[in-house]
Formats: sequence, C-alpha cells, structure tokens
Amino acid sequence: MGRTKKVGVTGKYGSRYGRRVRARVIKAGSQKKFRCPSCMKLTLKRESAGIWKCGKCGTKLAGKAYKPE
Ligand SMILES: [Zn+2]
Repeated sequence: MGRTKKVGVTGKYGSRYGRRVRARVIKAGSQKKFRCPSCMKLTLKRESAGIWKCGKCGTKLAGKAYKPE
C-alpha cells in the first residue's frame, strides 16, 4: 500500500474518491481518543479500521471502524 506525501494515509484509496472525502477520512481516522477499557485512561487511539490501541497500557482491541465498540 503506497503512501504519498500529498494524500497521507488515504493514499490507499488511489484516485477513487475526491479530495473532500479523503480529508474526511483523515479526520475520522485520527484525532479522537477514547477511553481504554483496560486502564480506563483516555488513551485509546484508532490504529487502523477496526483496530484500537491504548497508548498507556498497550492494549489492542478490535472494534468498529471509527468507534472502539
Ligand atoms: Zn489502556
């Protein structure tokens, strides 16, 4: 999967979607943090679609694409 400077993590989508969609994917995929079910800290970050990882205790869990449920 190629990653380019210009499109960042959305490089995997190639030239399919437009710029707007890509920007939204970036926004949805990063930024937000959620509470880790293991250590209860607000350090759960989305690693990839459906994969969540806690930055504190290192717990990795499967969830929804944009929500660690
Ligand atoms: Zn944790």
